[in-house]
Amino acid sequence: MAMNRVQFQAGLSMAEFLNRYGSEEQCEAALVASRWPHGFACPACGSGAHGTFVRAERRYWQCRACRHQCSAISGTIFESTKLPLRLWFLAMQLLTQSKNNVSALELMRQLGVCYKSAWLLKHKLMEVMRLREEPRQLDGRVEIDDAYLGGERAGGKSGRGSPNKVPFIAAVQTTAQGQPVCVCFAPQPFTSESVALFAAKSLATSAQVVSDGLWCFGAVKIIGAEHQRVVTGGGATSVKLPQFKAINTVLGNLKTALKGTYHAFDFAKYAHRYLAEAQYRFNRRFNLASILARLLRAACCTSPRPAPLIRMAEECR
Ligand SMILES: [Zn+2]
Repeated sequence: MAMNRVQFQAGLSMAEFLNRYGSEEQCEAALVASRWPHGFACPACGSGAHGTFVRAERRYWQCRACRHQCSAISGTIFESTKLPLRLWFLAMQLLTQSKNNVSALELMRQLGVCYKSAWLLKHKLMEVMRLREEPRQLDGRVEIDDAYLGGERAGGKSGRGSPNKVPFIAAVQTTAQGQPVCVCFAPQPFTSESVALFAAKSLATSAQVVSDGLWCFGAVKIIGAEHQRVVTGGGATSVKLPQFKAINTVLGNLKTALKGTYHAFDFAKYAHRYLAEAQYRFNRRFNLASILARLLRAACCTSPRPAPLIRMAEECR
């Protein structure tokens, strides 16, 4: 059973994590090995010849060819951080190994840092996940559906008209037998134009898409994908249809994970990042033991994202 394979795999235990990444020196060594797996390469000119020196307790590399100086964190998502690397590693461990998502508030408690630092760290790591998932394309059999994030706020409007409710397209690639393989979530409205854009970016031309009767999903045919429309009549019966078993399971789990973790985040502004985090984790659910090393590598390959850029979520999409 697919779910058991996910739930009973070993992952990276906290004991093993502390063995590998318990000290600042271990974390720096891991970061250097991940960033330069074949030895130092100058970020400015690519040369490998270098010298090293220590300044303000941080190690620096100086290129012998162009004299460019850099530390292990400069030019990466960790650049200009005031937090020790071991707290970044602990955050990456918590974000990737826990069953549900971990909120900034929970990170604040676990890391012993202020909320502002925890929030920024979490959003930077979510941005790494979002960029990593951006080229994701689904192929083969794909179930697609319209869904909403948030919207339940005390005293406010609920339902489709709620101002805090974010529409998103949810798609899951399945095996021929209907087992979920990987997912793609995209916060965008349900119009033919936006479905066509989604298809162009996130679906292979050979995909065979199954959707309910919602008219806009027909737009996936623009890229040449096959489209099968199953008119469900809505309500509880459509949830039980076998054609939509994978997407309904994925959306049910997503709702539970977000509801149990986040109580009042700004869905409208940061929805793309929260959805990307869920997508990143789902698509690596069979590889819990290696997910931290892979996130570290992605973080090394992501250019710095200063706080104002992280907060201008909409503008930098
Ligand atoms: Zn150089």
